[in-house]
Amino acid sequence: MGLEEINIIWLEGQDCAGDTITIKQASNPTLIDVLTGAIPGLGGLKLAYHPTLMFEWGDDATQILVDAMEGKYDPFVLILEGSIPDESKAGDGVFCVIGEHDGKLLKLSDVIDSLAQRCAAAVAIGTCAAYGGIPSGNPNPTGAQGLLDYLGKEWTGGLGLPIICIPGCPPRPDNIIQILGQAVLAARGLAPLPELDEWHRPVAFYGYTMHELCPICGFYAEGTDAHAFGDTGCLGALGCKGIITNCNNTTWADGYGGCTGTGVPCFGCTHPDFPDAPTSPFFAKAPAMPFIIENMKGMLAHAEMGFERFKPVLEALLPLVPEFIEDLDRQMEEAKDKGRKI
Ligand code: SF4
Ligand code: SF4
Repeated sequence: MGLEEINIIWLEGQDCAGDTITIKQASNPTLIDVLTGAIPGLGGLKLAYHPTLMFEWGDDATQILVDAMEGKYDPFVLILEGSIPDESKAGDGVFCVIGEHDGKLLKLSDVIDSLAQRCAAAVAIGTCAAYGGIPSGNPNPTGAQGLLDYLGKEWTGGLGLPIICIPGCPPRPDNIIQILGQAVLAARGLAPLPELDEWHRPVAFYGYTMHELCPICGFYAEGTDAHAFGDTGCLGALGCKGIITNCNNTTWADGYGGCTGTGVPCFGCTHPDFPDAPTSPFFAKAPAMPFIIENMKGMLAHAEMGFERFKPVLEALLPLVPEFIEDLDRQMEEAKDKGRKI
């Protein structure tokens, strides 16, 4: 499979287009940098199909999808934004149609079934596409699923890569563009494959909890809680789920914004169970056990840190101890000699 030219087929299912809006905010690099080939190694990418960003519309747009299903856009990377409904639950109707061809409706699930058989790789952008997200929230009337469940964790594309998930509602802009970029570089043999965790998230971007990376964790460390929005302090009492959620959103785009850093509790939007428990109710406190475990670990670690910092003082004082004790003994003997009690 020649990879000098790679097409991108970006589908939108049950979504709000938030990930599309987000990727346009990426700054390191920008979407324009990537699509114009300004980044070494990333040239030759073409956004062949994107329902919101492409110029084609109507029949011309649908024809691209049909052509892609017939192999005319190989090699291509399949990107999904939004979840996939279970059309068997739609009765006489349909849940998610993304076009019409020869008088027949193109259902999202049918298009994915076809494209998944010939794509070079597949990337799920946003929590809806990765794990079902908001459309799959209890009671999930459309049977919405993410790509990981729909195709299965064992699925691999033409390049042998498993599904890459970039969760978030929406994900951080630079995460999207950097992970996509790394996947393309890896496909071309110019970078290592991204290491994925059990939820198929790249570890380099989702390896820590928001709590571990939180820009205001100093307030947590010193024990200052916010009890109302606008208060200064850790947002745990206001429902922050950062302690159970892997996310690196310390700032949103170009060094600005972010959730906890701007006073907004983490809602756990990258969590595979979002928006159901344990990430909801949104303003209910996170489960206590992770905090208890962290506090106990923290106490031990702080004791060790304190000891490390106090060690030079101890080391300086220790040689003086024998002399100090001798001096005390001498003083006691002198006191006894004088017939006084100490
Ligand atoms: S509980 Fe939330 S606001 Fe508090 S330190 Fe953790 S992530 Fe930051
Ligand atoms: S900090 Fe929490 S709410 Fe904000 S993007 Fe990350 S997971 Fe989502």
